[in-house]
Amino acid sequence: MSSANPEAIDIMARRDLVGLTRAELADEMARFGAEPFRARQIWHWVYHREVTDFAAMTNLAKPFRERLDERYMLGRAQVTAAQASRDGTRKWLLRFADGQEVETVHIPEADRGTLCVSSQVGCTLTCRFCHTGTQRLVRNLGAAEIVGQVMLARDALGEWPSPQEDRQLTNIVLMGMGEPLYNFDSIAAAMKIVMDPEGLAISRRKITLSTAGVVPMIARCGAEIGVNLAISLHAVTNDVRDVLVPLNKKYPLAELLDACRVYPGSSNARRITFEYVMLKGINDSPAEARELVRLLKGIPAKVNLIPFNPWPGAPYECSTDAAIAAFSDILFAAGYSAPVRTPRGRDILAACGQLKSDSVKARRSEPRDAPAALR
Ligand code: SAH
Repeated sequence: MSSANPEAIDIMARRDLVGLTRAELADEMARFGAEPFRARQIWHWVYHREVTDFAAMTNLAKPFRERLDERYMLGRAQVTAAQASRDGTRKWLLRFADGQEVETVHIPEADRGTLCVSSQVGCTLTCRFCHTGTQRLVRNLGAAEIVGQVMLARDALGEWPSPQEDRQLTNIVLMGMGEPLYNFDSIAAAMKIVMDPEGLAISRRKITLSTAGVVPMIARCGAEIGVNLAISLHAVTNDVRDVLVPLNKKYPLAELLDACRVYPGSSNARRITFEYVMLKGINDSPAEARELVRLLKGIPAKVNLIPFNPWPGAPYECSTDAAIAAFSDILFAAGYSAPVRTPRGRDILAACGQLKSDSVKARRSEPRDAPAALR
């Protein structure tokens, strides 16, 4: 953004109201000298009606709308690319004011539609099988940028005002780029906004946060956000998990499973999902399935087996169908639901672990462990 551009300076000076929680918006409006019910009206316009311009807020007096416009803005990320898979999955590349980019994916199914939301630009975790892990962390997303992903999906799906039924966007999974529990405050604020019944109105029961296992933040996630929890487990011994998910060296399996055992709000009706990526010859033996059953004992759990989604230069292969079926059967026989996640959007690199933005690539000069051509 050039500082010679007066419009750019103007935008920088105005405060974005998108991304403020309801309480923060009320405080901001109080400081601005507006009566409390104005905050509620603005909230409704922004999150129920998708208005991006104060001028359209017709139940506010015109001079008040003009004053708002001088001090504030209603930000929206720019969609710089949109792709649609053969199977109906859609992927959007979003660019923010500083030029950084993330991807967001919509996965339609017969009875629901799930939006896969990113929490960071890049990721610090370097999980060996994950494409995003080859991209360094650039920065955390702000609450506005997280909520903005939901809003732009609603834009693209034509779902304004927030529909009561037959929605195409019913569920949210925080399973996009980044580790949500390393960006806790923004994720918590964004989810409060998304869950608010007078706005986007997606209930916490329809939201799942997936973590690679940031143990000290798991209890806070349950207490302060209250969404469903998914754990990227992927291995049943510390030796294997240390390699696949290096965060395991900091928070090993026993500590992670202890945190799950006491996760607030989990019950047999509301189980913790354990994600397990199926990697040929690495973690997919019947003995490992039996060990998984042993580890999960006492935890209200279900298992999601994820066939490995390949990406250019990936060091692993997907397990065979037979190995996946045998693994699933062992879990099932022990009483666990263990569906195999159908890969969606593989043809547009929109499936689990395939997300990656190019925003760092162009700027990075020093080489990383994978050849540049593969990134
Ligand atoms: N950092 C969080 C959020 C990412 S969620 C976490 O680790 O849970 C993305 C999910 O897809 C995780 O379960 C991740 O382990 C899985 N995944 C990553 N790369 C994958 C790949 N290539 N194939 C299948 N699943 C993958």
